[in-house]
Amino acid sequence: MPPTAQPPSSSELIFAPVGIAHLTRDNADLLRGAARGKQRLRITTAAQLNGTPHIGTVVTVLSVFAIAAHAREALDLPATVIFDALDNAPAEQIEIDGEIYTRTVGDLIDTGQLDRANRISGFERLLRWAAARSDVRYEFRPYSIYQGLPPVRTCLYTMASRLEDFRSIVAPSDGIVRIRPRCPECRLMEKSAKNLTISAGDGVVQLDSLCPVHGRYQEIIDISGSDGWYDANTPVRSIQKGFLLSAERELYEACSVSVDGADWGGAWHAHVLAPALTTLGIPAANWPVSMFTPLVLDRSGGKLSKTLYVRYGPAYADLPEAFLNLDVLLDQYGDGTFDAIWTEITRWAAEPRRLHRAYTVDYLADLIRASAHNAILNRHTA
Ligand SMILES: [Zn+2]
Repeated sequence: MPPTAQPPSSSELIFAPVGIAHLTRDNADLLRGAARGKQRLRITTAAQLNGTPHIGTVVTVLSVFAIAAHAREALDLPATVIFDALDNAPAEQIEIDGEIYTRTVGDLIDTGQLDRANRISGFERLLRWAAARSDVRYEFRPYSIYQGLPPVRTCLYTMASRLEDFRSIVAPSDGIVRIRPRCPECRLMEKSAKNLTISAGDGVVQLDSLCPVHGRYQEIIDISGSDGWYDANTPVRSIQKGFLLSAERELYEACSVSVDGADWGGAWHAHVLAPALTTLGIPAANWPVSMFTPLVLDRSGGKLSKTLYVRYGPAYADLPEAFLNLDVLLDQYGDGTFDAIWTEITRWAAEPRRLHRAYTVDYLADLIRASAHNAILNRHTA
């Protein structure tokens, strides 16, 4: 059959038809049912505090605010963004007798080995800009606060009481549920968790583990109080967050929404979050709404990754450092960078066909370069 239309030029986007974009006229349609009868929108997202944000993180955070602002208008409800700052991300890895132990970002900030401002200022700059531009307020919630929230601890207790039900969901390869304590003396945490024992008692979860230097130790997590600290690894934390957001529907009379990069949709949602919410007995009507922001892809079609950039250097994606480091990006291209990305993203926030797709880093780089170029031209002609 001969083609019926001219293809767009190489700089224009082409939209392949996808199911969810056919099902919706506006992205707010995905929230409409869950928002009915509610007083507010609570929109939660998270990022590991593993250094300066790169362009992928910038895109996700700005998308969160753009989606919040768009949904606020479309549904006529006030909106708040909650940013979970994951300072429990590993910052240091030590090998002792063939075993890997880690310390978290938060621990190294506490001991002065990491500078707090250095870890957080990039995110704060981004959050402040997005909040001012969208007129959506936000809360900055460190992991130490998150792990102590009553619904999060209730979920912890349920999982600890029913370990057999959750093993295959949170650890399909080795069955080890990783709710890890750290040594009270030196804060080392055993990565494999092979010496970890989890037990649920009378209103407490008890974690027993082994430090290679200080021997056996025990952490008691009080379910109705704030005593104790534990590291929930990614699947456990994801499930707790689903439980928390579901509880917030009642607690805050809120339509709870989680917004994350698209790599948390698809397989993660199907194999981890959805089975876990069902196992916890949460009816589908009380599930939080999950929305996913477009992935920014490198030239090989993979997700643009700071970890890979750190490992391979600039040759990894043949990109200037600016796209992997927010501070450099703003220094080189100016604050207009945020404006250029924001203009693009506000369209993603509204239009299904723009939200449910990925973008190459080259597409975004062209947008940013064009805006910087225009800014220079405007300066010359002014
Ligand atoms: Zn120790």
